[in-house]
Amino acid sequence: MILFSQLEEITGGKNILFTSNNPVATLSIDSRKASATPGTLFFAIHGERHNGHDYLPALYAAGIRQFVVEAAVLPEQFPEANILRVHSSVEALQKLATFHRGRFSYPVVGITGSNGKTIIKEWLYQMLSKEKIVVKNPGSYNSQIGVPLSVWQMDAHHQLAIFEAGISRPGEMEKIAQVMRPSLGIFTTIGSAHDEGFRNQEEKIREKLLLFAGTDTVVYCRDQAVVHHAISQTSIPTFSWGAGAEADVQVSRTHNACTVRYGSLTSTLYLPFSDAASVENCLHCVALLLKLGYDFGFIQDSVQALRGVPMRMELKEGIHQSQIVDDTYNNDLGGLEIALQFLTHQHQKKKKRVILSDILESGLDEGELVQKIATLVSKSGVSSFVGVGPVLSRHQHLFPAEAAFFSSTENFLEQFDFDRLQQEVILVKGARVFAFEKIARRLQRQVHGTVMEVDLNALVHNLNFFKSTLRPSTKIMVMVKAFAYGSGSTEIANLLQYHRADYLGVAYADEGVALRKNNIDLPIMVMNPSEESFDSIFDHRLEPEIYSFKIFHALLHYLKGKPARIHLKLDTGMHRLGFEESHLPEVIALLKANTHIQVASIFSHLAGADEAAHDDFSRTQGETFRRWADLISTALGYRPLYHVLNSPGILRLRELQFDMVRLGIGLYGVDPTSETHPLKPVATLKTIISQIKKINKGESIGYGRRGVAERDITIGTIAIGYADGFSRAFSRGAGSVLVQGVRASVIGNVCMDMTMIDITGIEAQEGDEVIIFGKGLPIQEVAASIQTIPYEILTNTSERVKRVFVADGI
Ligand SMILES: *Cc1c(COP(=O)(O)O)cnc(C)c1O
Repeated sequence: MILFSQLEEITGGKNILFTSNNPVATLSIDSRKASATPGTLFFAIHGERHNGHDYLPALYAAGIRQFVVEAAVLPEQFPEANILRVHSSVEALQKLATFHRGRFSYPVVGITGSNGKTIIKEWLYQMLSKEKIVVKNPGSYNSQIGVPLSVWQMDAHHQLAIFEAGISRPGEMEKIAQVMRPSLGIFTTIGSAHDEGFRNQEEKIREKLLLFAGTDTVVYCRDQAVVHHAISQTSIPTFSWGAGAEADVQVSRTHNACTVRYGSLTSTLYLPFSDAASVENCLHCVALLLKLGYDFGFIQDSVQALRGVPMRMELKEGIHQSQIVDDTYNNDLGGLEIALQFLTHQHQKKKKRVILSDILESGLDEGELVQKIATLVSKSGVSSFVGVGPVLSRHQHLFPAEAAFFSSTENFLEQFDFDRLQQEVILVKGARVFAFEKIARRLQRQVHGTVMEVDLNALVHNLNFFKSTLRPSTKIMVMVKAFAYGSGSTEIANLLQYHRADYLGVAYADEGVALRKNNIDLPIMVMNPSEESFDSIFDHRLEPEIYSFKIFHALLHYLKGKPARIHLKLDTGMHRLGFEESHLPEVIALLKANTHIQVASIFSHLAGADEAAHDDFSRTQGETFRRWADLISTALGYRPLYHVLNSPGILRLRELQFDMVRLGIGLYGVDPTSETHPLKPVATLKTIISQIKKINKGESIGYGRRGVAERDITIGTIAIGYADGFSRAFSRGAGSVLVQGVRASVIGNVCMDMTMIDITGIEAQEGDEVIIFGKGLPIQEVAASIQTIPYEILTNTSERVKRVFVADGI
């Protein structure tokens, strides 16, 4: 146990207030997640966009009593607190974790590289937790801050730690290495992710290798020449795998199997997947297990049990207007805490329920374990709890009244009254032996094979990237019109609210009303208000865009002197909606005569922000806008927010950011410029192969017999058609989809609900996944194949396609 009184010495800081010597148990850096337990220590970090010090009074009021600060605070405001002042809060966090790490001598496996860190960590955990009590980073907590928080979870009862580390700029790894001090390492393959912070690939590899400065052995793939070269220039002991004879573990691959030779032993491992990335990730794990002395029998059994996909939470639509957080693949305390936080932050529904299985292999005494679970659950404000399994059932007295217990998954499915679930968000989380996927399936609304998968972590990454390009004071309005560009508006809006976007923008009042009904509180601008929609608008605190005298007069007539906030749209060259220069005197006169109307913002839209050819035009639009807007502000006697930039404008015309920007397509990972920016694709549209057929040369395929086999071919019928938004323009070879990582072109005409594709030569099976766009098949390419733009492809995806939101903790 570490006491507050030890922190001065551990961190080199100075106590500016010390009222009682409490233990330090829970570390928190995020004011939204901090909970008021006596052991909570909050680190106030002054970041680029957010300043943790701003939240100290609120946290103190909420009952938090221990703080680390890096800026001046007034101790009088926090009479009962302990406050440590340090030079840097992040450094203090790292020093505290380093001190904690020093108390344990069991092995620590450190994983870095570019690709597969999280999946390798999760797989090693799956393989080894049968044997040992293992601690790992929750989710992908692998940063400057994530690693210290992960290391803080190490405890005397663990027997092995597995941590991943990720960096985005030079100088970071050395600090992470001090905190983690791995005794064994895995260097995964290297790709271009996060290249932006480094001068070149060598620099990036060298920096990453710093993690292993004091490591006994590093496992890596010897076939990666750049990695091999960089490692051989260090004195780090290695253990390699690869195709060549120089590798310690020699691997040759056939379709679904690998022949592995190690020393005098040879064995064939059968893999439950065949894509190159999974095989590579798996072989890293296999090599580490061999190094640790496990035999082929153990390794084969463990490999067979692996799942081919990363274990992430999925948020999807459930029965009776509920939403399901499906986290049915594993269950441990760290993961439970993250999943509960994710649940707590789904504000779309008020009622929160958890269906949880026993946690296995925690290494804790049963009573102590259940007590910890009960504390986490009650802290997270969950309204009902369902426990499944003998251990939870035995200790049910530890839970509050609104709890039900079942001895097994089968019992639960038989006895639970599913009609009781109405408008709730339900976390379903179970250890794998409990087969909770059966519960998730029972709770889900009817599903057909076509799914739009929305990667929430990628969305947050993109949001943060855009923030990083702006001045810290510039506000962000996120455009969530058209079902958030097809991605699903309420879930996205909820996430944006959590990440403190300043405004939301929608096209129609209905869209805004739907957001309000799902508990979104951010200010919302409606771009196309109509007279008929004024009731909805003002009943739901929405703010209309006023762009013409017709709508302005209608509004005045409707308001009859009642106050309202509006957004004034000026047409500086787009020639779509907006007031023109000749209108300004009258606009001003109307505003001055109706002071109950408050102008929240004045804005305009650029016609050619994505192309350098139009930059002069865009700048002229900017200047015109400023002149007109200033005229209005001066007349008003106050200064509304000014904004003109859309996504391409944010990336290319930073000087025009004024007070706010309107972020749209970029958030969804589509780069609207011809340059490249580090954006991650957010939406992946997927379907499945319903049937496979052999077609003889000369036979025709589909309606109108438009597809003709020019040789003997194999076709797959996939479960998507133009009613799902897969345009008929993709017919007859125009479009391609991805099957087993290979492009397969459309053959014949696209039908309403189905499409035929040519899969000759591709090793595919009925039921296989097919990617329409997204991961592995850029939407830009798909759009270009039918001469349209990504905006149209995204927003065309029909609402009948189920949206599934995936996240590994937000
Ligand atoms: C849609 C829209 C945006 C966002 O545009 P993107 O190119 O998607 O970033 C910004 N402003 C207005 C007025 C819009 O209609």
